[in-house]
Amino acid sequence: MFLKTLEMIGFKSFADKTKLDFADGITCLLGPNGCGKSNIVDSIKWVLGEQSTKALRASRMDDVIFNGTDNRKPMGFAEVSLTISNEEGHLAIDAPEVEIRRRVYRNGNAEYYINRSPALLKNIKELFLDTGVGKSAYSILEQGKIDQILSHKPEDRRYIFEEAAGISRFKTQMNEAQRK
Ligand code: ATP
Ligand code: MG
Repeated sequence: MFLKTLEMIGFKSFADKTKLDFADGITCLLGPNGCGKSNIVDSIKWVLGEQSTKALRASRMDDVIFNGTDNRKPMGFAEVSLTISNEEGHLAIDAPEVEIRRRVYRNGNAEYYINRSPALLKNIKELFLDTGVGKSAYSILEQGKIDQILSHKPEDRRYIFEEAAGISRFKTQMNEAQRK
């Protein structure tokens, strides 16, 4: 399972449709300060369902929508699509590729899609449980997160092992059942 493409429209500084193709192996994002490197990482977290504005370096959810420049009008929505290779069938969808898409409008309306069919945020979270991908899984390790992992209490570190061992799915289902 690996990231194949990322497409952004109106997300933060990426007003125009911007498509990144990830090759096999390691991808490095290079560029001067403020060119949008972290915004790309934010877009991946966002499409995977991140709901915390702090984690997205925003003060309100509509801060992820391109807010204009001196010579360009703000946009009305932001959209990110992430295509993941599923050749090995790690994601429980019978397709060699899985595309997840999230769109948000200035009025707060939000839409999610899995392989172009309308979906719920819950469906996206479920799809990635126990895969290591996901907004709080270990696939995104940012500056400081390594330190955090090393210095955290053992109980706080346990989630990484639970995700890798495939226990997260059952814990989530158990919590849901207990709430009902
Ligand atoms: P550094 O090397 O300093 O970490 P970076 O390449 O990671 O820089 P980012 O943080 O990704 O840079 O991008 C910051 C830029 O994105 C700023 O110029 C900021 O104005 C712009 N930006 C953030 N949100 C929006 C938005 N909603 N609309 C337009 N531009 C935005
Ligand atoms: Mg940065």
